[in-house]
Amino acid sequence: MFNLILFGPPGSGKGTQSEKLISKYGFKHLSTGDLLRSEIANQTKLGLEAKSFMDAGQLVPDAVVIGMVDAAINSNKGVYGFLFDGFPRTKAQAVALDHLLASHEEKIDLVLALDVPEDELLQRMIGRAKTSGRSDDANPEVQKNRIAVYKNETLAVADHYSQFDRVVTLNGLGSIDDIFSSLSKEIDARGF
Ligand code: AMP
Repeated sequence: MFNLILFGPPGSGKGTQSEKLISKYGFKHLSTGDLLRSEIANQTKLGLEAKSFMDAGQLVPDAVVIGMVDAAINSNKGVYGFLFDGFPRTKAQAVALDHLLASHEEKIDLVLALDVPEDELLQRMIGRAKTSGRSDDANPEVQKNRIAVYKNETLAVADHYSQFDRVVTLNGLGSIDDIFSSLSKEIDARGF
C-alpha cells in the first residue's frame, strides 16, 4: 500500500488536487470534511453534533473524527492506498492514525504539503463559497478562525511527520495542472 496525506490550510486546493490524484493513481479518498458533510446531510446524531463546530470554523472533537476514520479504514480493506484529505488535523489525530495504520501493518508513506499565502487562501474561500454552498466558506469570521485553527493546531501534524522525513512542501500557487504535475512527480519518484 501507499498511503498519502495531502496537507495544507483551508483553501489550499487539497480537494481539487485530491480528485485528480484519485483518478490518476486509484487512491481511496478519505476526506473527513466530506464524511462529516454527508453525516449532516443524512441528519445523523454525529452530523448534528459536528455541525456547530463546523459552522464556527472549529475542529470537531478528535474522538469523533478518529472513530470515523477507523471505520472507513476497516471497511476499505484491499485498496491500493488511502489519500487522507483534511485529516489528521491535530497531533493527537496523527498519533491515532499511525496506530490505526500500524494495526494493519501499514504507515503513512508521504505527506505532500501545499504552501499558499494567507491572502490567497481568503480569496479562494470567498470564490469557493459562491459555488460550494458551504456556509463555513462564506463568513469572513469563520474563514479567519479556520486559518487560526490551522496555525495553532494543524501545523503540528507536519512537524510530527517531519521527524520521520516524510514531508515534502510544494508551492500551491499556480495553475491546477502545474501543481498536479509537481504532486505527481513526488509520488512517481517513490515508485507508486
Ligand atoms: P474541510 O472540508 O476539510 O475543510 O473541513 C470542514 C470542517 O469540518 C472543518 O472546518 C472542521 O470543522 C471539520 N473537520 C474536517 N476534518 C476534520 C478533522 N480532521 N478534525 C476535526 N474537524 C474536522
